Amino acid sequence: MKNETLEAYWDLLNLFEDYLELGIRREHGRPRTLHVQPGNGLTRIAEEVRECTRCSLHAGRNHTVPGAGVSGPAVMVIGEGPGGEEDRTGQPFVGRAGKYLDKWLNAIGLDRNTNCFIGNVIKCRPPGNRDPLPEETSACLPYLERQVDLLKPKVILTVGRIAIQVLTGKSAGIGALRGSTYEYRGIPVIPTYHPSGVLRNPEYRAPVWEDLKRLKELIS
Ligand code: SF4
Repeated sequence: MKNETLEAYWDLLNLFEDYLELGIRREHGRPRTLHVQPGNGLTRIAEEVRECTRCSLHAGRNHTVPGAGVSGPAVMVIGEGPGGEEDRTGQPFVGRAGKYLDKWLNAIGLDRNTNCFIGNVIKCRPPGNRDPLPEETSACLPYLERQVDLLKPKVILTVGRIAIQVLTGKSAGIGALRGSTYEYRGIPVIPTYHPSGVLRNPEYRAPVWEDLKRLKELIS
């Protein structure tokens, strides 16, 4: 087969794949969204993450943690990155902090298995649970952007300082940033403390409850 014919063939195949996976039909090189099938697209992102070597964190990981939950969720929870337990299992928020997060969600009628998607800004564990470096965040962010665009949650709940800083580009601490509603890729964002921080600092419980009540109002 001639090279031009082969290229045209692959081009056609790629366009067809985009149509099936993302519901996107390209006309004259410009994408036009028809509808979205989140399940397929999310699986594809998870597969790409599994093979990803875009930043140095790939070298020390046991498992990638692309996130988990339902398609078209009421709420997408976004944390900073996987911890030890998440790295061991490949699942987000599964340690003590994860169980505590589940209690928060349950208190306002949410559940990770029925109406939420839970993920992180970065998908591989930083060594010693240090903050992700700016270059690691920029390398990984396109995955999160694609997840948000596919999932189209009603509201995003960020937990902890890093997630809200990355989504808003602001540099203030979580104490200053929480209490307001922001927007990320057209979705309202409510920031609150990280469950592990609240386990260490019980005085954060009251502001978290205020944030959760605002979240419930937004989704209802
Ligand atoms: Fe790739 Fe993100 Fe993992 Fe870095 S943290 S290797 S960008 S998946």
